[in-house]
Amino acid sequence: MKLANLAGRATLIVGDRALDVEKAGGGTLGPDPAVLYDLANHPELRRIAEAATDADLVEYDEKQLGPVSPRAGKILAVALNYRGHAEESGMQVPDEPTVFAKFPSSLTGPYDRVVVPEGIDKTDFEAEVVIVIGRRMRAVEPADVWAGIAGVTAGQDVTDRREQWRKPVNQFSLAKSYDSFSPTGPLAVTVDEFDDPDDIEVVGHVDDLEVQRGRTSDLIFSVPALIAWMSRYVTLEPGDLVFTGTPAGCGVRRTPRLYLQPGMTLTTKVAGVGTMRNPVTR
Ligand code: ZN
Repeated sequence: MKLANLAGRATLIVGDRALDVEKAGGGTLGPDPAVLYDLANHPELRRIAEAATDADLVEYDEKQLGPVSPRAGKILAVALNYRGHAEESGMQVPDEPTVFAKFPSSLTGPYDRVVVPEGIDKTDFEAEVVIVIGRRMRAVEPADVWAGIAGVTAGQDVTDRREQWRKPVNQFSLAKSYDSFSPTGPLAVTVDEFDDPDDIEVVGHVDDLEVQRGRTSDLIFSVPALIAWMSRYVTLEPGDLVFTGTPAGCGVRRTPRLYLQPGMTLTTKVAGVGTMRNPVTR
C-alpha cells in the first residue's frame, strides 16, 4: 500500500488516484494520518482499498501532500552509516551507531519549502531512506524489525554545518531541527511492495546536479540492525521516524563546497517511494 498525508487526511494512493480512508471506509478509521502508521490498522486499510469503487478514487494535487507522520512522537537519526560518507568525513567506520534526535517540529512536506534562516550560510543536504515505525518495539531482535515497520519513505536531514560542529561540543539535534529541515515523503510505502527492503536506492540532486547516490545494502548498520540497536534504549512507537543515514556527496565534503541557497531546488528520490522536490528559500 501507498500511504499518504493528503491535506492532513489519511489517504491511500491507488494507481494515480487518492482514496480518503475515512470517507471510503465509512468511518471505520478516522481521518488522522496517524491511523496509517499503526500496523494494527493495516488489515482494515487493505479492506478499504479492495472495496473502493471508482467513485471513491479521486484525482489529487501532489502539492497537497504533507509530511509522512506529521505528529511523529520522535525522530531518530544516525551519523555515518555509509562507508563512503564515513571515509569522506575522515572518520573511522564505527563499531556502533551514533544516534541523535531531530525534533518533529522540523517536519515539512515533500514539495514544501526548506527555509534557510537569515545569516545561516552552511546549510547542507543529506538524502536518506526513512523508516516509519508501525508497532511498539522495545529490545526487538533484528530478525523481527521489518515485521514492525509501517512503511518506507524519503527524507532530507537538512543540517546547519556551522551549528552542528559548534565548539566546545557538537549540536547535532539543534543544527538538524530548524523549522522545515526535515522534509519527508512523498508517500510511505509498505514493506511488502519492495523486492528487497534491505536494498533500496536513494538519490539526491541540487538543481540538476546529482550529488548523492546510495543503496541501503551498503549501510554499515542495516535497517534491522539499526532499529534493533535503538530499541535497546528507547521504546519505539507507531509513527516514529528513523532516518537511516546519508551516502557520500554532502555539500560540506565537496570541492568546491556546495551549500543550500535560496532559489535552489533540493530533489530526493527513493526507489519504490517517489521523489520529493523542495524549493530552498530564505
Ligand atoms: Zn543524516
